[in-house]
Amino acid sequence: MKSKRTISDMRKNVNSENQNKRNPILDNNKRIAFAGIMLIVFIITGVIIANNLSNKDSIGIINNNQQNTQKETVNTGTTQGEPTISEQFIHDQVIEQNLRKEENNKVMELIKQGDQLALGYDYDGAINLLKEQENKYQNHRELKEALEGYETAKASLEPFGAYESADQISHIFFHSLIADNSLAFDGDSDSNGYNYYMTTIYEFKQMMQQMYDAGYVLVSIHDVGKKIESADGVSKFVPGDIMLPPDKKPFVLSQDDVNYYNYMDFDGFATRMVIDENGRPSTEMRMEDGTFSVGDYDMVPVLETFIAEHPDFSYKGARGILAITGYEGALGYRTDDKNSPTYEQDKETVKQVAKVLKEWGWEFASHSYGHRNMYEMSTNFIKKDTDRWMEEVGSLVGPTDIFIYPYGVEVEKTFGTYSSDKYKYLKSLGFEYYCGVYKDPWIHIKDEYVRMTRRPLDGQALLQFPERLSDLFDVATVVDPDRPALK
Ligand SMILES: [Zn+2]
Repeated sequence: MKSKRTISDMRKNVNSENQNKRNPILDNNKRIAFAGIMLIVFIITGVIIANNLSNKDSIGIINNNQQNTQKETVNTGTTQGEPTISEQFIHDQVIEQNLRKEENNKVMELIKQGDQLALGYDYDGAINLLKEQENKYQNHRELKEALEGYETAKASLEPFGAYESADQISHIFFHSLIADNSLAFDGDSDSNGYNYYMTTIYEFKQMMQQMYDAGYVLVSIHDVGKKIESADGVSKFVPGDIMLPPDKKPFVLSQDDVNYYNYMDFDGFATRMVIDENGRPSTEMRMEDGTFSVGDYDMVPVLETFIAEHPDFSYKGARGILAITGYEGALGYRTDDKNSPTYEQDKETVKQVAKVLKEWGWEFASHSYGHRNMYEMSTNFIKKDTDRWMEEVGSLVGPTDIFIYPYGVEVEKTFGTYSSDKYKYLKSLGFEYYCGVYKDPWIHIKDEYVRMTRRPLDGQALLQFPERLSDLFDVATVVDPDRPALK
């Protein structure tokens, strides 16, 4: 049974939880105020006792104590450098206050980390993190309340969130995003192709915002269908265990041809993928004056910026899949050309960039080496083409089990189970997730593989088939005003 809680209910709950249970600023203020009152009470008590016990100047103690430095309290409060009973008492109180303050800071930091995990729906991670430290801070109210909050939120999760099964999960895809509309739609011979198959950064941002507002959450394809091993050592694929609040809708994202091909030069696209000065995956683009600028010029950094602002858009750190071919290198580096003067250096750079991308949650897919129709090409061709991809691209981006078909054309047209030699060869190289193209969500989770089609969100889909996308966003408000009519 699906719960009837709405998005706004969930938000309200999350907000009220944050406010009631663990608003660190409010709680800190209360705590500091309370500590202050206690301190004054102790000081007054101390003064009275001190006056009764001796005739020494108590004002010095008070003054020094107000400065809140234990050392001075002890040293200046006595004539011989020996603390009196009252001074020792105050001294101990101050130390205890400081210890409590320190402990409180540690707990608040811990809760902050837990909240971050919980925002990404990793409630188990958040619970484990706090439970590990629970004994150390046994009586800490905020810690207990944070733990209870995670447990409550976890109890409300449903498999696949708002969906009944993995069958309903959309896998959406893009090509390189258009960063400069005036260059892409300048009327040259490539303009119409861009208008059909590309999406602008403006449109991508609109889509992500509207999908986020509608409860969509980005997940990894490896969580949609996952491989399990039975007791007898035989492995098979089963639906994954994506656990989301009952109003959240998981989706998978990929981007094709992340190669920054030569034909796109000077047409308003990023030129290559880089790591920026903060260690974050980013893109570099050639500006009109010939200089290069690093920034949000394609999907990867644009989405990173969006997720940084909306961490609950990503399930357990999931990002998209980057599908790359090999015939013009990878990620904008011409690693296919052994005669290039920067050949060795470029290979190292691609390895580094790919490593960082993976650390940030991005996954790689083969999009074949030569981008040919894999249904029409011979088995022999497919073998050679795939071998070459493994050698020239796989060797740089690392092993992957995802294959994203060029043109969305699969090796087989069957609606049953793959059985061809082409499939068997791909499987023998470790490919187990196969992605074609279709207008609606569609998935097969077979014992040996997962087959998941993808929905294009390009100009053609936006302008020709807007009704197909109405479950994702409001197409009319998404389309870039700069986009010309389709020819
Ligand atoms: Zn492609």
